[in-house]
Amino acid sequence: MSGTENQKYALVTGASRGIGAAIAHRLERDGFNVIGTATTEAGAQSISESLTRGRGVCLRVDEDNSVDELMTTLKADEQLPLILVNNAGITRDNLLMRMKPEEWNDIMNTNINSLYRMCKPLMRPMLKARWGRIVNLSSVVGRMGNPGQTNYVASKAAIEGFTRSLAIEIGYRGITVNSVAPGFIATDMTNELSEEQSSAMMERIPVGHLGSCDDIAGAVSFLVSDDAGYVTGITLPVNGGLHMS
Ligand code: NAP
Repeated sequence: MSGTENQKYALVTGASRGIGAAIAHRLERDGFNVIGTATTEAGAQSISESLTRGRGVCLRVDEDNSVDELMTTLKADEQLPLILVNNAGITRDNLLMRMKPEEWNDIMNTNINSLYRMCKPLMRPMLKARWGRIVNLSSVVGRMGNPGQTNYVASKAAIEGFTRSLAIEIGYRGITVNSVAPGFIATDMTNELSEEQSSAMMERIPVGHLGSCDDIAGAVSFLVSDDAGYVTGITLPVNGGLHMS
């Protein structure tokens, strides 16, 4: 089966705001029926209202039950996606010296254990269809490192390794698995940076400005397209030249 015959549904986690919302809208513009997730009913409702054909659903990627419930709903509605964008992610910054166990564990559970929870059930319909696209959101700091973010950086580096391994496992079925590593993008996440941190960062970005959510959505749009069918296992940096590897 070719991608274009059966790539109707795309699932984007964390689509209520920021990068995930931009990805959801871009994929809808690309012609997919987008299912976007939020952690609250109100968030899911507002995704439904903002999409033309798609809808919002509730999901907590850090909870097994929540993923099971979503799978049950998608199966019942015959909306199993062949495109999965694992975008939901959080930060819990602290120097390692002061980092509490829950700050470490929350990050691992939400940012990396979620890939196991999501990819395992959701790749089944892709294997059956012999076509699929998985895109995982990493971060520039996954390769650069960043003080105060040992937990977050470890989770993002793990995402890139996961991406390469799964790409090797399921490439033979026409499924590509890639990561996108944003640099510093204007979202709620980067609003938390102090002015000092922001201006120090700006000096290191060759293109001289923060990225936009649409910059990341464009990269995801390419990776899920038929044009990218021979691209797998990569991490695509979208960082204005902040880090080149
Ligand atoms: P954001 O604005 O903070 O939005 C986070 C999204 O994830 C929201 O939709 C949120 O849902 C959802 N979410 C949070 N915890 C969740 C959970 N336990 N289960 C399910 N969904 C959850 O984040 P962002 O800046 O757009 O970042 C999106 C992705 O890009 C993340 O993976 C992040 O690590 C990565 N990234 C961002 C930047 C940046 O500069 N912003 C740079 C590099 C990488 P609710 O609205 O319901 O809370």
